Order: sequence, then structure tokens, then C-alpha cells
Amino acid sequence: MNRKPGGGNTMKAAKPAVTRRDFIKNCGRCALACALSQGWNLFGALSQAPALTVERGRAGRKASPYFIPLAGGAVQCTLCPHGCEVSPGERGLCRVRENVNGQYTSLVYGNPCAVHVDPIEKKPFFHVLPATLSFSVATAGCNLDCKFCQNWEISQASPDDTQNYDLPPAAVVEAALLSECRSVASTYVEPTIFIEYMLDMGRLARERGLLNVMHSNGFINGPPLKDLCAVLDAACIDLKGFSDDYYRDMTGGRLQPVLDTLKRLREWGVHTEIVNLLVTGKNDTPEAIRALCRWIKAELGADAPLHFTRFMPLYKLKSLEPTPIPTLERAWAIGREEGLHFVYIGNVPGHEAEHTVCPKCHARIIERRGYRILAQRLRDGRCEACGTAIAGIWSAPQKNASRAG
Ligand code: SF4
Repeated sequence: MNRKPGGGNTMKAAKPAVTRRDFIKNCGRCALACALSQGWNLFGALSQAPALTVERGRAGRKASPYFIPLAGGAVQCTLCPHGCEVSPGERGLCRVRENVNGQYTSLVYGNPCAVHVDPIEKKPFFHVLPATLSFSVATAGCNLDCKFCQNWEISQASPDDTQNYDLPPAAVVEAALLSECRSVASTYVEPTIFIEYMLDMGRLARERGLLNVMHSNGFINGPPLKDLCAVLDAACIDLKGFSDDYYRDMTGGRLQPVLDTLKRLREWGVHTEIVNLLVTGKNDTPEAIRALCRWIKAELGADAPLHFTRFMPLYKLKSLEPTPIPTLERAWAIGREEGLHFVYIGNVPGHEAEHTVCPKCHARIIERRGYRILAQRLRDGRCEACGTAIAGIWSAPQKNASRAG
């Protein structure tokens, strides 16, 4: 489940401008948090550029390489498994890609509608730079329509209908650094629908020593995913259920492409955590959970972190009950029985299953409450007590680090 925007520091529409770059540099994150909370225009001050504004329907166009020309000026999108065939002047199912005279075109490049400074634990990443901040962006649009979507107001919107910032990739990276973030996150909606923006943010972020992370539904084709993996450090993938019927009925997608994505991420060296939202009475049988856990262990390995998260009634499923805590605990127990080393319960702050425990000596190596880190007993990525290496990214990359694509 892609967490709802907000709760971190939110960039609001510009009002009074902060006038001195030095003020921000000297005051760092506290100043940023304060300024953002008051809707101040930091970017205008930083760049001496016109004020950062939000504008309804602002569209940042960028030619996409992910399409095949068809007869009569139509195109077929090759970005995700839907493979939309789009006539001139029309858009694909995700609402953010348009056939402009035979050139398929992103309509959201550099124009996010949600921009926040979040704890990385909110993505949720539990094995990536704990207790750091992640500069998080999303545009309008999505390639699925999950009945339980937390962010449906933007995921099911067209960029014509959202308030969009003018925030090119370089401005994202600059803002991330000024707000003392250690990563840039593409999140909240399905981020791969703005892949052209992600790729450019990713290249610049990497040059400046920031990690690139995403929370994705994994519904993307192999070639564009491979392009993305050249700049991506970590992915949090929703494995929403373990049957194709569930995917088709609840999300409008399919299971196999998501499984393919998970295997490709492993093959291409991207740290991956998995989120399974347990929707009451829909995907929460012990058999389905066991099958999912077995697949993860067999295909991704015992060290792949798995988050069982609690469903809350919203969007098209308001009539369902929240996931009962015993259902989550049963899922957690199944995950452990099946040999997974890092199984978590999410959306239940204060639960015992939020902590990271060493798979060898069972020492509690990271203690959490919600998004807060209470204690860390890791040294150089190893359990302090017994020295076992713990899967994850525990130190920031070097500036200008590159990676083979
Ligand atoms: S990315 Fe969008 S336009 Fe392309 S195939 Fe998927 S839903 Fe269709």
C-alpha cells in the first residue's frame, strides 16, 4: 500500500518568500520544516527565480521513448503491461501519457502534485538508511485502479485536474539536499507512469550522493524497468495478493507481471521490500498468505523484507472492516514459519512486529514505533551482538557513484 501523502513536511502553495539562501543553509531542516509548514516559498528564494507556484492543470511535456508507432498515427505504449493503443490526441489508461501527432508524450514531467519530506520508514522501507528523511514526489495518475487506494484523489485524477508544481529534476535534488534528505522517493501513486521524470531525477540525485527509491505496484514491462534500475537503489513493491483473480477484480491489473518485476529487481541488484495489504475477507486466507510467503522465499530469498499492512476502509471498500490484528499476526507467524527472516506488521504503531530482529541471535537490532526509530544496534550493516550481516542499505552512496544499467 502506497502511504498517503502528508504527515511529513508538506510544500504548500507559495505565499511569503524567504529571501536569503544563507538563512536556509544555516538553519537546515528545521528552517525548512518551519517554512514549509507556513507555506513559504523556499525555491524562489534559493534560485532567485520566480516564485514556486502551484497551478491547476500545469502540464510538463516530455517525449517518451516507450512506444511503438502504429498505422494511422496511432501508438502502442510499451511502458506497462496494459499496452494501450492510443489514437492521435488521446491518452492512455493512466491519464498522463498522450499521443501528440504520433509521438507518445508524458504530460507530467517536472510537475508533481504532491511533494513532501517523509521519514523513509513511511514508504515503508525498514532496511534502507533508518531514521533518515526522503524527499517524496508524485504526479497525478496511475495505471491501476485499486479499490482500496489511499491516494485515489490524485492517482485517479488527470494532471488537468490537480494543482501541479513546476519542479524540474534539478530543483527536486536541490530541495532534497537542503531539507537534509538522504534519498529521493517516487511514491504515493504508481511512479513508473512518470518514468521520464524519475530517470532524470535519479541521475542527478546519484551525482549528489542521494539514494533513489520508489514505492511501486510493480506493473511495468521489463525494458523500461531495466532503464530505471540503472539509477534505482531500492524499491518497495506492492504484492497485493497472490491470485490473478484478486488482481483483476481489486486492482484492474494482473499478478504475473508483478512477480516478474520482483524477480527482475532481484536479478538487477535493487534492494527490494514487499508490501502485502491484507484486505478483510478478500486476500487474507492462510492458504493465500502461505503461498505468497513460499514464493518470496523461493524466488527472492529469505532476506527479502515482507510487510503485512493493515487495511482501513476507504475509497471503494468503505463497507469492509479494518484488518483484525489477529489476522495480521497469523500472517506474520506464517511468514516466519516459511523461513522469511524479516516479516513486519504495518499500520499498527507500537506492535512488536515493527522491530527488526537478527535472524541468527534474535537480538532486537532496530526498534521502531510507527515511523520513529527508538534504537539501532547495527554496526556497518551487521548485528552488533553476533556480527551477522543484515540485508539492506545501511550507508549512503558516494557522490557521483554510477551503476551499470
Ligand atoms: S503506462 Fe499508461 S499509457 Fe502506457 S500502457 Fe500503461 S496505462 Fe497505458
